Amino acid sequence: MEIFSLISALETSYAKYFTEELGDKRFKHRQIIPLINSLSENPLFVVEKLGESAEKRKIFLIKYGNGSRNILIWSQMHGNEPTGTMALFDLFNFLERNSDQEYIKRWRSEFSFHFIPMLNPDGVELFQRRNALHIDINRDALALQTPEARILSDYRNKISPRWAFNLHDQDAHYSVGFSNKPACISLLAPSYNMAEDINDNRRDTMLLLGSAAKLISGFIPGMIGRYWSTYSARCFGDHFQSLGTNTLLIESGVYPYESNKETPRKMNFLLLLASFELLSQKYYQGESLQTYLDIPENKKNFYDLIIENVQIKIKGRIINCDLAINKDEKNIQSASDYIITSEIADMGDLSTEYAFARYNAQGMEVSPGLLLPEVYPSAQIDIPHFELSNFRKGYLYLPIKNHQANTKYPETKLIVVPEQFQAPQIIKPGISATFYLHKDGRTRVVVANGELMELN
Ligand SMILES: [Zn+2]
Repeated sequence: MEIFSLISALETSYAKYFTEELGDKRFKHRQIIPLINSLSENPLFVVEKLGESAEKRKIFLIKYGNGSRNILIWSQMHGNEPTGTMALFDLFNFLERNSDQEYIKRWRSEFSFHFIPMLNPDGVELFQRRNALHIDINRDALALQTPEARILSDYRNKISPRWAFNLHDQDAHYSVGFSNKPACISLLAPSYNMAEDINDNRRDTMLLLGSAAKLISGFIPGMIGRYWSTYSARCFGDHFQSLGTNTLLIESGVYPYESNKETPRKMNFLLLLASFELLSQKYYQGESLQTYLDIPENKKNFYDLIIENVQIKIKGRIINCDLAINKDEKNIQSASDYIITSEIADMGDLSTEYAFARYNAQGMEVSPGLLLPEVYPSAQIDIPHFELSNFRKGYLYLPIKNHQANTKYPETKLIVVPEQFQAPQIIKPGISATFYLHKDGRTRVVVANGELMELN
């Protein structure tokens, strides 16, 4: 089958291979163990324990194929970057169920795939970037002070693969160049030296990335960026590239309004399969270097929400401006759950900036949310009417007795705060995105911790 038709067919059938057990991006190490155990029952897969993390969680190697060309693929060396791991298990499902396809038999005879899903299980446990020793494994390629970095380094040295794939997630707020599209996927052919020269290996890496990007670009038009990075010898991609292992970096960003990375996950799946076929048929060698170089670089200018044209009374003046709001996830209860935090990320003329959502507040004045004057015994109060009547008066903060920090209060959309809380007096960057918009003496819109609600 022609490669473009193959990738289109894979895109159409992808849902069949989606690993439901990893539907929530905050899955843990214990959730991949049964999946790996079931793979070990399939004679086409060889499952080994490669080593242990600092906290003694098993790090697995999954081998598929017995060809002479080694390909090394690892994921989640940063614990809070789960997309690659989810895509790898989808890929294992796919390989299991399609082992009789001629092209997959060809891959098996030509390649040996070496997968290390979830290199940083301790970081995953706490949904944090670093490992249990608080070291960033991806800055430990030379010093090798972490067991996880040693495992990866030793294994690469053992098999000397010509090709490797390094799967990460990136911040949600990158755009593709100066466009109004978020970077759903970003790609990088890492440098092997400070001068960022292009030798034959790096050139091949660029050719493969360019040709793979072309094959998936129709599924996420305008949403593929080139990851912005400079050479750093202590990072694995750069280090491996200098050792002659062509290392493709795939960074998963976001697709609008998705919280569990479904689209970038699918794109990882397709990028990997496309790359295998491009490598097998050597199609990438006919690609132009310009295809990769033309992928626009990431720029960090994407906000979650921009509220346009608000009026702010400040220091005796009235100014017209836009407010940019970003939301973030903060781990609570040892990362078993999380809360949303928000901030006013910028204010001023943001007409040139991009956001997932925009709201035109023409003619409305913004004022900081007010603190309810009475302290309540708990957040459990008669909710909908209570909230609406308070929203109308600009009351957005609910003080309660015995407030617990880092706790979810799902009972209310008001911001639950301790009784001694002081509400901000002015609107400015850095404060929580909690304010109300009013016009002609009536509150029209409230924004509570970044959540915009229109009042009728
Ligand atoms: Zn990362």
